[in-house]
Amino acid sequence: MTATVCTPLYAEWLALHPTHPVHTGRSRGTPHEGPVLVAGVAGALVEGIAAGDLVVATEVEDVRRGRAVPCDAAAFVVGELRRLGFTVHAGPVVTTDHVVDSAAERAVLAACGAVAVDTESALLAGDDGRTVVVRAIVDTPDLPLRRVGMPWRGARALRELRRTAPVINAWRAATGEREVLLAAPRSFCAGVERAIETVERALERFGAPVYVRRQIVHNRHVVDDLEQRGAIFVEEVDAVPEGAVLVLAAHGVAPTVRVQAAERHLQVIDATCPLVAKVHQEVRRYAANDNTVVLIGHADHEEVVGTTGEAPDHVRVVSTPAEAEAIQVPDPARVAYAMQTTLAVEEASETAAVLRQRFPTLKGPRTDDICYATSNRQAGVRAIARRSGLVIVVGSQNSSNSHRLVEVAEAAGTPAVLVDDAGDLPLDRLAGATRVGITAGASAPPALVDELVNCLSGLGPITVTETGEPAEDVRFVLPKEVTRP
Ligand code: SF4
Repeated sequence: MTATVCTPLYAEWLALHPTHPVHTGRSRGTPHEGPVLVAGVAGALVEGIAAGDLVVATEVEDVRRGRAVPCDAAAFVVGELRRLGFTVHAGPVVTTDHVVDSAAERAVLAACGAVAVDTESALLAGDDGRTVVVRAIVDTPDLPLRRVGMPWRGARALRELRRTAPVINAWRAATGEREVLLAAPRSFCAGVERAIETVERALERFGAPVYVRRQIVHNRHVVDDLEQRGAIFVEEVDAVPEGAVLVLAAHGVAPTVRVQAAERHLQVIDATCPLVAKVHQEVRRYAANDNTVVLIGHADHEEVVGTTGEAPDHVRVVSTPAEAEAIQVPDPARVAYAMQTTLAVEEASETAAVLRQRFPTLKGPRTDDICYATSNRQAGVRAIARRSGLVIVVGSQNSSNSHRLVEVAEAAGTPAVLVDDAGDLPLDRLAGATRVGITAGASAPPALVDELVNCLSGLGPITVTETGEPAEDVRFVLPKEVTRP
């Protein structure tokens, strides 16, 4: 399979990359097989796109032939360009058989959903979704072609286009056939589904705005989506108007937060995951019997902050076996332990083993507190990591369980990368990666995995295999405030 680059700057670009194996397909009207990247200039159709900006097509439409083809790898290229500092817009690009300059014609094309117009992309695009289109904007609705300054704008657009060469190189290196191994289970767990549905139902029942303390779950996409639907995320309770509806996030809170909410007469809906609430309960019980509670976890994680708040005078946080070795307690005969729910299973077990050795009467949960979803996802990624050249974990940077998935893959000897979405994945990570494993943290929406797989298919043919355990059937009941009649 050969990747093809089509651009008016191709000769110039090829001179910079003399060993480049691609061949050019500059003949107009000849759609290409396999990955093709079409780079050139275009006119903007909508407000908000300026001369010199770049547009990457999510699909290209040929108005004369009534043909539209998707550009499946667009998100990869958009992300790569943005990381290099380009101003990039993504959207449909339409190809016409003449240069469009009148306001009326721009408006007609914009009304069809296109954001930019050119005269060649659709003619070169294949039907397989493996076309990438990058256009530098020369003219806009406000600054049409015949307006003063056009030569300067044209030169600027071409200059921007030349600067995209590293991205074109990275795209080319990433193209090729590959095998995709999907870990099972992956993505949303029962606690995350419950928390998201709680906010959705609160919005339905009480109307916007509904306030949420901190991120309802640690995922940027989930938060953005709920924000658009009327949720307002706040750091602390004092940012919520008196009497408003407040949802507490899945990670749980310290009792002091509930007190603050009561003082402001807030209508509190608790979306704390029941498995986190269970750990809170254990800590309260141990502390009530005057035990020192060693909480295995990451001290700055919201879940640990909330759990510690149940008995701050009794809880000591350790995160590693070495810290467990070093911890001093007032009475070694009165020690208990609990765990953050999203730890790496093996390291947490080692830490607990050190505590058991040091404190023979150590009390602890009947089964460790690491939740079923964390354990299952770690087992799933371990299974695909051994067979993959690269593991991609979909999840946000503040997602603890997603970070643990990266660590588990790396411990299996496979490089791994954590990405918020397809656009977050550096293309150079895909160069030479012919077998890619994919999983997602418990707070990452499944649609992001689908989008990533689709983007990979835009770089070349893929075969997709799912490996692991059958789907989980755990469900938690919703808080009564959003269910009772
Ligand atoms: Fe609950 Fe586990 Fe999901 Fe956390 S990862 S919300 S503890 S089910």
